[in-house]
Amino acid sequence: MLDQQRIDTLRSEPVAARKLFIDGQWQSGSGGVLEVLSPIDGSVLTTIERASADDMTRAIASARTAFDDGRWSRLAPAGRKKVLHRLADLIEREALALSVLGVRDNGTEINMAFKAESGSAAGTFRYYAEAIDKVYGEIAPTDENILALVHKEPVGVVGAIVPWNFPLMIGAWKIAPALAAGNSIVLKPAETASLSLLRLAELASEAGLPDGVFNVVTGKGSVVGEALALSMDVDVLAFTGSGATGRRLLEYAARSNLKRCYLELGGKSPNIVFADAPDLDRAAGVSASGIFRNSGQVCVAGSRLLVQREIHDDFVAALAKRAEAFRVGDPLDLGSDIGAVNSLAQLEGDLAFVATAEKEGAERVTGGNRILEDTGGYYMQPTVLTGVGPRDTVAQEEVFGPVLAVIPFDSEDEAIAIANDSNFGLAGAVWTSDLSRAHRMVRRVKTGVIHVNTYGGADATVPLGGVKQSGNGHDKSLHALDKYFDLKTAWIQL
Ligand code: NAD
Repeated sequence: MLDQQRIDTLRSEPVAARKLFIDGQWQSGSGGVLEVLSPIDGSVLTTIERASADDMTRAIASARTAFDDGRWSRLAPAGRKKVLHRLADLIEREALALSVLGVRDNGTEINMAFKAESGSAAGTFRYYAEAIDKVYGEIAPTDENILALVHKEPVGVVGAIVPWNFPLMIGAWKIAPALAAGNSIVLKPAETASLSLLRLAELASEAGLPDGVFNVVTGKGSVVGEALALSMDVDVLAFTGSGATGRRLLEYAARSNLKRCYLELGGKSPNIVFADAPDLDRAAGVSASGIFRNSGQVCVAGSRLLVQREIHDDFVAALAKRAEAFRVGDPLDLGSDIGAVNSLAQLEGDLAFVATAEKEGAERVTGGNRILEDTGGYYMQPTVLTGVGPRDTVAQEEVFGPVLAVIPFDSEDEAIAIANDSNFGLAGAVWTSDLSRAHRMVRRVKTGVIHVNTYGGADATVPLGGVKQSGNGHDKSLHALDKYFDLKTAWIQL
């Protein structure tokens, strides 16, 4: 159980200005600072370094030196395992402090942040700590006068660029397998969610990770993110963020050293409810959480609700009731179900999507407004829009806010056609009591993840990744380790 008093104590602590974490030291950057505005009330929380391209080059050099001298890359997997377990212990020790710091920075409701940020990050470090001394190469079935070995080798320097919605969770999805595999890392957090990741780097040092193996460089994506992606000395880029940035990263890779790019991008995930869903009331509740938690700023959010026509009106009414019952407010108040939108720019973008949808003929069933403006924070009502056409802007583009587009359908084939009529293919769900239909839908809906009679469950054991323009390469599970290994064949004449 989270304790409100403890949260209030932590939230009142001043947050010192943060530096860059390079070569195991806090270092000043050469590009000035960025103010960190708290989405809770719009106040200046602290500053982070607005690093320059030169600062980024320094961090990459530190990661390269650490990799090449083998201080981590040549440590036995069992040794890396110990350090990663210690890091998981430290994350657990600091779980609430890390979560509160993150919430002050990015606005996620604390109940969710505690589980999805610190809780998930600790679990991810443990998962890869446990995995790494059980994953090894192969002996190929060749002629008996040949010994052919397939080695798994760390790739070298990994550049990780992450977004603001779940910085610790998504950061850990990249950092943990990359470190477990023996690589060095340069991490570029989002401008509006750097603080908990800077603290994570400090904890990694305390856990015994050698200097230079994990560096964090804050600042503008267009400056330091670009410098990281253009570097000739970075071997792999692991990215989560928007499609627009993902496209740039591929260009940067092409213009530099053809580094491998793993992109986890956006979604417009279809949540498909058939009239024979086992429990429509539960489906309405879970669907509401599946779009509105963290103010809809969830990559797999079920932002397109496809409802069979015969239950459309009743289901929308039940879901709207749930949406209206959510308490939106201070994300550090345990009474809030939904916290703040990450930034003013994001909030304005969300409101603009609602206005466009209405212009294109959608009707607002509930929500659609900014609220609690007097707090100075960025809060928006959960919003349900009906009368949305499958090709309308709000049905095609990712809002990444608390906005649900509802589209009716008649048949299973029509539901599949609408679901797949999207450039995205990240996640989705189907609600039905018909086992055969559930399996047909699992096969035919083109997404990387599909839920049946639930929305949003997952753990470290299963991959998360998209198809189509939702990206390539998966985070989580043993499969994610492949991204951070090179294969080397040794063909030995006996
Ligand atoms: P974004 O692309 O604007 O920013 C992501 C990161 O890229 C930030 O750290 C940013 O500073 C950096 N960046 C920006 N411009 C850059 C450039 N020119 N070169 C290098 N780096 C640059 O995305 P965002 O707004 O922070 O995040 C929201 C997006 O992330 C949404 O589209 C969401 O769906 C997606 N997302 C996907 C997943 C997934 O697992 N597929 C998970 C969470 C979020």
